[in-house]
Amino acid sequence: MTGIYIHIPFCVRRCLYCDFFSTTQLNRAAEYTEAVVREIRLRYDETGEPIRTIYIGGGTPSTMDCSYIERILQTIGVEGKDEITMEINPGDATKQYLYELRKIGIQRLSIGIQSFQDELLVKIGRRHNAQQAITAVRLAQEAGFDNISIDLMYALPTQTMHMWQFDIDTAVSLGVQHISSYGLMYEDGTAITQMRNRKQIEPVDEETENIMYDYLCERLGQAGFVHYEVSNFAKPGFEAVHNSNYWNHSPYIGIGAGAHSLVGNVRSWNPENLDEYIHGIMAHDLQRESESLTKYDLYNERVMLGLRTNKGVSETLLNQFRSNTDTILDFINRGMLCRTDNQRIIATQKGLHLLNQIIEKLMIDA
Ligand code: SF4
Repeated sequence: MTGIYIHIPFCVRRCLYCDFFSTTQLNRAAEYTEAVVREIRLRYDETGEPIRTIYIGGGTPSTMDCSYIERILQTIGVEGKDEITMEINPGDATKQYLYELRKIGIQRLSIGIQSFQDELLVKIGRRHNAQQAITAVRLAQEAGFDNISIDLMYALPTQTMHMWQFDIDTAVSLGVQHISSYGLMYEDGTAITQMRNRKQIEPVDEETENIMYDYLCERLGQAGFVHYEVSNFAKPGFEAVHNSNYWNHSPYIGIGAGAHSLVGNVRSWNPENLDEYIHGIMAHDLQRESESLTKYDLYNERVMLGLRTNKGVSETLLNQFRSNTDTILDFINRGMLCRTDNQRIIATQKGLHLLNQIIEKLMIDA
């Protein structure tokens, strides 16, 4: 199954924690759309399989007029798709915009809420407020969207357990079908990392972060969400199809500045530069970088992605490398991994806290 990812790099302003490729040159949406349309036409057939899912992410795709999104969707074709998702910022979610998105074929929304507390939203530099977040979900439901995902963040500076419980309860009460939740990461070069380094903010300690994560898993489980990926929770039948394909290591075509693709064993990526991307596409001279994944790279990626999901990784795959057999047994004995009835290895709740370390131990050096 092939998915297509469209990167829309425009943001009204930079959130303090963000290290994604984005730009505030919103006035370039028209020329960017033309470049994207051209790249889709050039690369649509790259995997030799029909496109089944479309994901429009960013940046902030909802900074773009609906007519641009429509032009992109029409170029790909919306008929017969399993899932068409678009990320939106709550601040852009007017009634009219949401109705237009429905009309042009968007089936699923991913709303970047992050928190239902104004105080925390200001601290991380988001441009919307809590009321806009709630209104965005309500308006999307009124517009007919019955597959809505929201993003929530935890381990935010000054966030208490009580605040986090309030955010999760609010999310559950809104009746959304999917929740993605991530702890705040202090990435190199971001404004929030500089603030931490200058001691202007105090990061949440690791123990509290783990307690927040456990509460998230427990509370959403009680509310009927399936914890199907380390950071993702869905009502049964609402697991993200496009993203699940990434985790299954299925092929995808990434369109737009900075977008990554995986076709066969080749990973490639477009330049993270708006001018370079637009001029390259228009001049039929886009310089895309690529790397061929070795059998070790493929194995490592399958282990890394598989262990993040509730399907885990097959023992047959893990046992391809003898050196891993004892390591797996050790993790099982320490209650971090467990074996399912169908011979798959999955991470336990305890193991999810230390997933990166577990994965690192199971990686094979080429
Ligand atoms: S809206 Fe998203 S992509 Fe844009 S700056 Fe904020 S986190 Fe980054």
